Amino acid sequence: MAPRLIVTIDGPAGTGKSAASHMLAERLGIDCLDTGAMYRCVSVLALRTGADPSDPRDLMPLIEAHAIDFDWTADPPVVRIDSVPAEQDIRTADVGRTVSIVAAVPEVRKAMVQAQRDIAAEHPRLVSEGRDQGSVVFPDADVRFFLTAEPAVRARRRVAQLEARGWAVDAAAIRSEIEGRDAIDSTRTVGPLVCPEGAIEIDTTSLDLGEVVDALEREVRNRVGKAVAPPC
Ligand code: C5P
Repeated sequence: MAPRLIVTIDGPAGTGKSAASHMLAERLGIDCLDTGAMYRCVSVLALRTGADPSDPRDLMPLIEAHAIDFDWTADPPVVRIDSVPAEQDIRTADVGRTVSIVAAVPEVRKAMVQAQRDIAAEHPRLVSEGRDQGSVVFPDADVRFFLTAEPAVRARRRVAQLEARGWAVDAAAIRSEIEGRDAIDSTRTVGPLVCPEGAIEIDTTSLDLGEVVDALEREVRNRVGKAVAPPC
């Protein structure tokens, strides 16, 4: 079996992490994990049941009663709640507004961190993206990245992403949602959004997706060489 290889990509919303992680994983011939999707599923469960999104006494029974996992036969893997694909449910504006509140609850983070490490045990060659992947979940990752971009650019990208899915979006509302999430994600006490020590920081403000992935791929190949599939 090929040796374990973990690449982490952290950064705020709209830096292109999800798309870049998927493309990078494809080029390297390894799996990819969208950890934000897992927190979004907890948020969906809270909204469905009327749970208080900040109260671990409401949230933990939901996490224990429902299975949040991925269909690994899809590319990229599709997140599911109780085996039902949840991609549509996790991208709503309501989830966008509550997910950072849910993700700031230490008990929720502990459960998700464990779930992410369990996934890595099953999928040991992984590009894992989120907010705390290089700092908390996989501090021993082979390569760790931190992506940034100017706030206006990040908001524009998120709007374009949602419009590409055919959704009508309010650009000002998206910008304020992103700013709100950034503020909560960066200041929470457990697993805050930080640039992990020793991570490679890439400012994606003036780069397109292909250029970002080229930069990531170059760094990974420089660091781990033959441990990944040869370039196409
Ligand atoms: O990546 P995405 O924007 O879908 O993440 C949604 C939210 O999930 C983030 O704003 C953050 O509150 C939370 N999150 C987190 N830790 C991660 C991934 C996401 O707290 N590793």
